[in-house]
Amino acid sequence: MKNILIIGSLGQLGSEIALELRKRYGADNVVLTDIRDDVNRPLVEGGPFYKVDARDGDAVEKIVHDHQIDTIYHLAAILSARAEKDPLQAWNLNMGGLITSLEVARRHDCSVFTPSSIGAFGPTTPKQFTPQDTIQRPTSIYGVTKVAGELLCDYYYHKYDVDTRGIRFPGVISNLTPPGGGTTDYAVEIYYEAVKQHHYTCFLSGDTYLDMIYMPDAVQAAIQIMEADPARLRHRNAFNIAAMSFCPEEQAAYIRTHIPDFTISYDIDPVKQAIADSWPDSLEDYAARVEWDWKPKYDLATMTKDMLETIQRRGV
Ligand code: NAD
Repeated sequence: MKNILIIGSLGQLGSEIALELRKRYGADNVVLTDIRDDVNRPLVEGGPFYKVDARDGDAVEKIVHDHQIDTIYHLAAILSARAEKDPLQAWNLNMGGLITSLEVARRHDCSVFTPSSIGAFGPTTPKQFTPQDTIQRPTSIYGVTKVAGELLCDYYYHKYDVDTRGIRFPGVISNLTPPGGGTTDYAVEIYYEAVKQHHYTCFLSGDTYLDMIYMPDAVQAAIQIMEADPARLRHRNAFNIAAMSFCPEEQAAYIRTHIPDFTISYDIDPVKQAIADSWPDSLEDYAARVEWDWKPKYDLATMTKDMLETIQRRGV
C-alpha cells in the first residue's frame, strides 16, 4: 500500500481507519471521500478529501487516477437496522457503491478492502463457533447485500485478478464516531449512558449473545489483512474474526465492576431483536489466525475499562 483511497471515510470505522492509515502512510497518501463533509472537520481538513457519492464512477476514477491510488478501502454502506427501513436504498448503495469501486480497481489495478459482517449469516447457520465456510441464508436486506458483496469480490478476484480482501466484522465498539444504525449499536450506547445516567434501557433482550470487537482491534485487522502476504490467503473476502462474544446482561455486570450502581432495563425493538436472533452467537476464526496472523488484544474486561475511562476523561 502506497496511495490509499477510503470511500465512506467519515463513519464509525472509516474515521478511525483513516486516522491510523494517515499516521502510518502519511496524510497526503491517504485520500478520503464521503457523501458528507460536515462532520469530523479535523479529518476532512487533515489531508486530501473529496465529497463524492460512492456510486459516481467517473468521480471515483478521476481521484484514483489523479492520486495514483493502489489500494481502495470501500466502507460506504447502509447498516442493518437502517437498511430494514429502506431496503431498496440499502441495495442501491451497498451493491452500487461496491461494484463502482471494483470496476475502478479493475481498470487501475488497485487492491480493494470491503468489510462483510456477522450479518452475512442467517437463522440456519450454526450459531455457536460459526465456521468460516458454512450456510449463509441471511433474512435481513443488509445480510443479503453482504453475502452478495462477498461473492462479487470473489468473482472480481477469480475473473479479473483484482486483489480483493475482506473481513466479516462483528459489532464494532468505539468512542470516537457514533455507530451508523446497526443492530449492535446498543453495546456502544450502554457505556455512554452508564457514565451519564448510571442506567441504560436496552433494545435487545438481556440474553442475546453476539460477537463484538473493540475498535483498536478492528482497525488493526483492516490494515493487517491488506498488508498480508497474498500467497498465504486461501480465503479472500470473508474472513471470520472473533474477539469476544457477550450478551447485554454480561456487559452490564462488567460495567458494574466500575460503576456499582449501574442498572439496565429492557424495551425490546422487535425489528432489531429479530435481526440479532438470526445472527450467530459466536464465530470461529481459525482461517484468519492461520492465513494472516489475526490476534485480538481486547476482551470484554479490558474494553469495558478502556471505554469507561475514555468517556469519563472526555466528559459526556
Ligand atoms: P457508518 O454508517 O458509520 O459509515 C458509513 C459512511 O458511509 C458514512 O460516513 C456515510 O456518510 C458514508 N456514505 C453513505 N452513503 C454514501 C454514499 N452514497 N457515498 C459515499 N459515502 C456514503 O458505517 P461503519 O460502521 O463505518 O461501517 C463501514 C463498513 O463496515 C460497512 O460496510 C459496514 O457494513 C461494515 N461493518 C460495520 C460494522 C459495525 O459495527 N460498525 C460491523 C460489521 C460490518
